[in-house]
Amino acid sequence: MQNKIVAISTEVADAVRETMRAPVYGFPAHKELATDAAPCRHCLRLITPQVDDAILFTYDRFTGVEELPQPGPIYVHAKECSRYDEHDGFPEELRGSARTLEAYARGRRLIAQEYVVDGAFEPAIARLFSNRAVDYLQVNSTTAGCFTFRVERTCD
Ligand SMILES: [Zn+2]
Repeated sequence: MQNKIVAISTEVADAVRETMRAPVYGFPAHKELATDAAPCRHCLRLITPQVDDAILFTYDRFTGVEELPQPGPIYVHAKECSRYDEHDGFPEELRGSARTLEAYARGRRLIAQEYVVDGAFEPAIARLFSNRAVDYLQVNSTTAGCFTFRVERTCD
């Protein structure tokens, strides 16, 4: 059984590209030629440095799951891209970088976390979800601290 990989919504990505403002907050977004290979939070592919324009904006990483916000900076491709398919498993382009998996219960209660540095994400995800109290996982960059995507249980 595959868990769901949940990237930011297409509505959010399109709204930022169109308005150059952060959703909800309205802070100005910033567009520039990418200088390092950060993941786009919409397609979950790496933004190519010196080739692709990236938009940096403020995003509440608990959008859609909690009422309590926790905004932080994230990147998307400045040009239109396809949202990552929720059923495609862990994004292969992101396997090579260190990620922190945070396991939450509803109400934003942090229950456990794992630091993955060797690309073995699936066993770590399975271990965290083996605790029935865990409702979803937040995946963040370990080195930069920024939100990357969410993992949700499939119905079981
Ligand atoms: Zn993208």
